Order: sequence, then C-alpha cells, then structure tokens
Amino acid sequence: MIETLAKKKQRASKIYNLLVSTYPAGNKCYLYYSAPHELLVASILSKNCPYELVNTVSKNLFNKYHSAKDFAYCNLESLMEDINSINNNTIKADNIKHACLNVVEKHNSVVPHNYDDLVALPGVDYITGKLLISEIYNIPNVVIDTHMSRIMILLGFTRNDNTINIENDIIKIFNKNIWKKLTYLVIEHGRSVCHSIQPNCKVCILNRLCPSSSF
Ligand code: SF4
Repeated sequence: MIETLAKKKQRASKIYNLLVSTYPAGNKCYLYYSAPHELLVASILSKNCPYELVNTVSKNLFNKYHSAKDFAYCNLESLMEDINSINNNTIKADNIKHACLNVVEKHNSVVPHNYDDLVALPGVDYITGKLLISEIYNIPNVVIDTHMSRIMILLGFTRNDNTINIENDIIKIFNKNIWKKLTYLVIEHGRSVCHSIQPNCKVCILNRLCPSSSF
C-alpha cells in the first residue's frame, strides 16, 4: 500500500522524536572544528573518508595551523605530509591550500556565506557547501551524506539515489526547523546502529517504524 505524504510526515515525526531522545547530545556537527575556516578544511578532508579519522587528523592539524592564512601560505609538501593518513592527501592538501588562499585574498579571510561562492572553492562540493552554510551561518539545510542517503532510503522516505532528488524528498517530509539537527541525528544513528554493512535492526529504536526491518 502506498503511504500518503500525511502518513509519512506522521511517521517521520515519531522517528525524529525517538532519535532526539536516544541521542540527547546528537545535535552537534559530526566534524571537529572551532572556527569557520577549520570546518572548511575538515569538510574538504571528509570527502569519502570516515569522520572519526578526519576528526583525529583535524585536531592535530588545527594545533599547527591556526588561521586560514596559515593554510593559505603553508608549505604544500608539509601539509600533504600532515594529512598523509587521509585518502587522496595530495589532492586534498592542494584543495585546502587554494580554498584558504581564495578565502584570504578574495573574501577578506571570511568563509563565504553564499552557496555559489562556497562551491567555487577548490574541494567544496554540493554536500560540503550545504554543511558549511547550515553549520556556520545557521541557514536550514539537510546534508545528504552517505549515512543520510542510505538511511532515508531504508526508512522509505525516498526511492531516489541522486543527492538532489533525495534532498527534495526529505524536505517535503520533515519540518524546516529540524533539518540541521535531523542530519546530525541520522548520521549518529548510522554510526551507532544502522551500519552500512549490517544494520542492527534487532536493537534499533526505529525498527517498528522502519519498512526495512523484519523485527
Ligand atoms: S530498523 Fe534497521 S534498517 Fe531501519 S533504521 Fe533501524 S537499523 Fe536501519
């Protein structure tokens, strides 16, 4: 039987409330940072890389490079070495240096709050651009990373596999005021229970509301 949009919204609301009560500290960004340029750097590092590894590398990196200027005018080979445990470290180091150079020289050292300016920075794509806007400037967005796309499909809220189409489905179902928090809660759920290789449906708090569960 096809689930109407109204029914989907009701189910989505219950799911959101369960996630909020299960992960009371789950409204925090999944990437470690304490300044906008640090989130820019971390988001470039995070492409196809586990967030846990990115956060470990970022903590050391931000102790060494303290500003967008430090990254912009750094020695590229040293930066490559500093992030050598991250995939595609040579490309990512180059992107970080040139993205920060762009921020310093074209935007007066302020990470842009405009989506078009953000995605013009080397290494910033649609997903990381949305994260930066949502997190730094508090402009409501859902960020369709791998956890979000996988879990939204499992929960039956989208049948699409394209980021923009998934996003369009999700924003019709969930209220705008919870988009940012929803992203972080779903990512936390993906890391804790709904794993990509083997979702642990038996212990999942959403299993009675999830069409992919047999429990
Ligand atoms: S019931 Fe299973 S598939 Fe559905 S959200 Fe939970 S862990 Fe994921």
